[in-house]
Amino acid sequence: MRAVLDALPSPTTLIDADGTILLTNSAWDDMADLLGSDLLVGVGGSYFAMALHMQDDGTNRALIASLGELSRGERTSVSSDYALPHAGGVTWFHLQATRLREAGHVVVTHTDVTSRVRAERASTWRSRHDPLTELPNRARLHELIDTELRRPGRPAVTVLFLDVDGFKEVNDSLGHEVGDDLLRQLAARLIERTRAEDAVGRLGGDEFVVLCTDCDVDGAEALAERFRTSFDRPFDLGGRVARLTASIGVATAREGDSDVRSTDLVRDADLAMYAAKAAGRNGVRTFSSELRSAAQYRLLVAAELEEAIETGQLVLHYQPVLHLPTGQVSGVEVLVRWEHPERGLVPPMEFIPVAEQHGLIVPLTHWVLRTATRQTAEWARAGLTLITGVNISASHFATGTLVDDVAAALAAAGLPPEQLILELTETSVAEDPRGAAAQFAALRVSGVEVSIDDFGCGYSSLSQLVSMPAGVLKIDRSLVNGLDDASGQSAAAIAAVVSLGQACGMRSLAEGVETAGQLRMAAELGCTFAQGYYIARPMPADQLERWMPEHARQRAVVAGRA
Ligand code: C2E
Ligand code: MG
Ligand code: MG
Repeated sequence: MRAVLDALPSPTTLIDADGTILLTNSAWDDMADLLGSDLLVGVGGSYFAMALHMQDDGTNRALIASLGELSRGERTSVSSDYALPHAGGVTWFHLQATRLREAGHVVVTHTDVTSRVRAERASTWRSRHDPLTELPNRARLHELIDTELRRPGRPAVTVLFLDVDGFKEVNDSLGHEVGDDLLRQLAARLIERTRAEDAVGRLGGDEFVVLCTDCDVDGAEALAERFRTSFDRPFDLGGRVARLTASIGVATAREGDSDVRSTDLVRDADLAMYAAKAAGRNGVRTFSSELRSAAQYRLLVAAELEEAIETGQLVLHYQPVLHLPTGQVSGVEVLVRWEHPERGLVPPMEFIPVAEQHGLIVPLTHWVLRTATRQTAEWARAGLTLITGVNISASHFATGTLVDDVAAALAAAGLPPEQLILELTETSVAEDPRGAAAQFAALRVSGVEVSIDDFGCGYSSLSQLVSMPAGVLKIDRSLVNGLDDASGQSAAAIAAVVSLGQACGMRSLAEGVETAGQLRMAAELGCTFAQGYYIARPMPADQLERWMPEHARQRAVVAGRA
């Protein structure tokens, strides 16, 4: 018996019905040495008293009771896991007790399961935390928020949704390691500003969520402001000092709002964040039900638009572009419209942003490119040679497929690349200047011209513009509108833009010319091209075919008079 017991690797003891220790094995004695002799008792001591001495709590009392039941034959086995704190840390044991047939004696074995428990705990921890920042992850955050929302009698609960502006640019230009480092710095700053009873977590990417307990709408806005100003201090990005901003959305579940779930609250805060970003970044926006209905409306439009692209509800209008030195129409700008079965002709500003948001801009632009190049090639075969401008969205630009998409459309239509010009807005160029420059260069090498659209209404820096290999600068309507007054600031601004363009090898186009005076001024200030309602409104292809000879005839009359 003794030899068998000593061969067992786990500390094992034989006790009687009162818990008196009758026998211990050598693993038990080794354990006593490890834990300190005051913790484990030897033969003659009481196992029950020892257990209570270690921890006098409900668990141990229940254990003692079940060992008693076992010894009386009222149950067949007892097993439980418990932690034993000692000078060297905590050891986890799995206790297994079996009744010997005679005299109600019980054998208790204690298997050390510390490494298994540690592994289980680590894996649970990993499944609920973000490995990069060690903050609670999406799953854990929802758990925390839901627990708070369900707490009886809780006060108002607020969720802040925080997204770094321009994070992608940091990642793309400085590398993922710098991006990861930025996220860790950010996590540290957010924790610094979070109260102990609140929680910060990372949803993924550059999106962070803060759970603020006992916080109503007013308190939340102040709190959001505090988080926003945590960006005032510059960040250290791999040795460079960088200033960043964040957009923050706020959503609050009021006291007594009992059926709000975490997913609702986080979604609302996300929506508010999106609105803050759209309103010009570095801002705080609080969720309102109007925001939700606007989002629902956009979803509806997106679903309809997808069908519209497939079923041919989109149409193209063409607006003539005048070459000022010769007075001839040198090209057209293609502008898309949606012939909606119920709502009539929908202008692009009502659906292009939706297409960009819902991943429909690439199929939409494919259609525009294919249709416009086919039409231009058809006109060229009929003797009407025009340079056609197509608008490209920043989000298409970011997919990196633009150069290939354009080449495919030109090849399918049999149109020479010189007859296509792509228009990119100043803002989209500013978003990713390096990517823009590379794609511009590739397009120009292939023979397709590029223009910068709406110049003068965004905030791109001059240095970026100078490094942009574009051929045409389209001066925004807002500047051209002020041109009637020759002494005005608009004239000075346009003159400056035109000479800046010239210095960079770009020709200028005045957009939105609405009066004879504006047209004359645009020519005087050195613009090469002009476009606007005064010359002609955008029109369908067949109408343009009738307008062209009419315009030429009128010009001849004017020229004859002069
Ligand atoms: P944009 O590229 O700057 O196009 C010029 C806009 O100004 C057009 O509006 C045009 O109708 C309007 N416009 C032209 N002359 C005048 C004028 O004298 N006065 C005034 N007040 N407006 C004038 P539209 O067609 O509503 O297009 C708006 C914007 O939608 C475009 O601005 C462009 O950014 C975008 N867009 C249009 N078609 C497409 C497309 O196929 N793809 C993409 N991605 N965007 C498009
Ligand atoms: Mg344009
Ligand atoms: Mg424009």
